[in-house]
Amino acid sequence: MPATQNDRYDVIVVGSGAAAFSTVLGAVDEGLSVIMVESTEQWGGNTSMSGGGLWLPNNPLMKREGAADSREEALQYMLKTIGEPGPASSQERIEAYIDSIEDFVITAERHGMEFMRDPDYPDYYPELPGGKIGRAIEGMNFDVKKLGEWKDTQRGVVPIPVRTNDVWLLGRAWSTPAGFIRGAQFVFRTIGGLVRGKTLVGLGGALAAHFANATLVKKNVPLLLNTPAIGLETEGDRVVGVRVKENGRERVIYANKGVMLGAGGFESNQEWRKKYQNVTGYTSGNPGNLGRPIEFAQELGAAVDYMDDAWWGGSLAPFDDGPAGGFLVGERALPYMMIVDGQGKRFANEAESYIDLGHHMNDHDRGGDFWMITSGPYNKRYFRTFSIQPGLMKGMAEKGLKHSAKNIDELAGKIGVPAANLRETVDRISGFARTGIDQDFHKGDSAYDRYYGDPTVRPNPCLGPMDKGPYNAYKIVAGDLGTKGGLVTDVDSRVLREDGTVIEGLYAAGNTTATVMGHTYPGPGSTIGPASVFGLRGARHMAKS
Ligand SMILES: Cc1cc2nc3c(=O)[nH]c(=O)nc-3n(C[C@H](O)[C@H](O)[C@H](O)COP(=O)(O)OP(=O)(O)OC[C@H]3O[C@@H](n4cnc5c(N)ncnc54)[C@H](O)[C@@H]3O)c2cc1C
Repeated sequence: MPATQNDRYDVIVVGSGAAAFSTVLGAVDEGLSVIMVESTEQWGGNTSMSGGGLWLPNNPLMKREGAADSREEALQYMLKTIGEPGPASSQERIEAYIDSIEDFVITAERHGMEFMRDPDYPDYYPELPGGKIGRAIEGMNFDVKKLGEWKDTQRGVVPIPVRTNDVWLLGRAWSTPAGFIRGAQFVFRTIGGLVRGKTLVGLGGALAAHFANATLVKKNVPLLLNTPAIGLETEGDRVVGVRVKENGRERVIYANKGVMLGAGGFESNQEWRKKYQNVTGYTSGNPGNLGRPIEFAQELGAAVDYMDDAWWGGSLAPFDDGPAGGFLVGERALPYMMIVDGQGKRFANEAESYIDLGHHMNDHDRGGDFWMITSGPYNKRYFRTFSIQPGLMKGMAEKGLKHSAKNIDELAGKIGVPAANLRETVDRISGFARTGIDQDFHKGDSAYDRYYGDPTVRPNPCLGPMDKGPYNAYKIVAGDLGTKGGLVTDVDSRVLREDGTVIEGLYAAGNTTATVMGHTYPGPGSTIGPASVFGLRGARHMAKS
């Protein structure tokens, strides 16, 4: 049967996160017709639930603000941190990423998206050649009332206008004047928005809302919710459309130019987590990210890579069947705490980037016991974001995942680690705190560690003596912000076969793909950055084809 007008678009986009929206943005910028399909009842994916940072070295906001950076330094840094572990992270792809950052930002701004820079946020290895501070950007706080009815189906959005730079300062709201002032500013911003009748959101919610405003609202791009892509239509070797399930019925939508798979990773697919990663997946991501689009591209011969890897990070252990209780970032860099294994011994720099900590946990004892131990001053001085999550602390305590004790011996007994080991570890880290030098794991050496530390604690803002109780122990697991393995794509986001040939008509970006970042995470926003840039590159290529 010939396709009707409703069944044919220039571009079909599967998913509704950064990769998908950026492709849509590119398509409308090129004057192409485009439709989006989203499997769940909410749009936005992990992008909308996220911190919303985009790591975009040498970006236009830096240039406007006179912050020094260059293509050469960006390339030097990325080659150093990423290496070339596979074709997804080839120098050619890294250069394509760096070279399209300006196009992404300028195009997004032309369509009304507004960004701000995070000038204090360091790269995750700022001391390496080409490393810098202040390469990340984020969407400005956004009034979701502008989205009309789309407001009601946005995923995971928290209705407060928080910003990245608030997060680390708020952690010290009780301990430093700067933290206290930032807390007050944040409260005024929130109240100010309410008084003006706005529903301001921040972080990933703001970024996703900016994308939706530029496309769904301003350009009337159709987005079908509850409509999973279930397969690809081909003519000969070329992908010409997508099979979807809409209202329980199969429908085929055809694409003149191309199909973009921007359907996220497979973090919520426990079978695949076991098969590829030999872990129970404790993700903070979207339950709809099951990896099915990776599979149906593989059925056409697509190559995959990095399937064993994820955007890992230490997370509070879940106390029910839900996702991990809290993804730990700044909490680990503060002083007067440490993370130990089931033997009561430290095994890594607690303040290192989340992906490094996840890798270290998995390499040290995959699926084993790990505890975050906090001592008296930590519990008193620092605002712990996770402790305000309703029911979390109580639930963890009831399930034996959180314990409190007056002294270390009592705590060791409660968490089942050898007391002598735990005492020795406490003595050792307390000694390091006094000299300021962590001889074992170098906590606090890097500017990245210190970003989340407490500057009032000297000589090392990330280390404090742990000789004062009471103590808390929280069970932690190797959680994640999503998976980072998937389809291998070229510089234009075209999906490749094992032999390196292109599957015509098929594109992919974001966590559906093997990331350009390889096994690492060079700086804040290293997943949404490439999802956005390669989404746009795919659309630009479709326009030319
Ligand atoms: C709490 C949290 C904080 C984070 N903070 C940051 C940050 O600050 N910076 C950063 O760079 N990264 C961050 N991340 C990671 C980042 O959010 C993701 O890596 C990124 O958003 C992935 O974008 P994407 O477009 O690939 O997929 P997603 O945004 O996950 O979107 C994929 C969409 O596809 C849909 N889908 C799946 N299968 C199908 C199908 N068969 N048919 C149709 N639709 C389908 C999904 O339901 C989903 O809506 C964070 C993640 C979390 C959870």
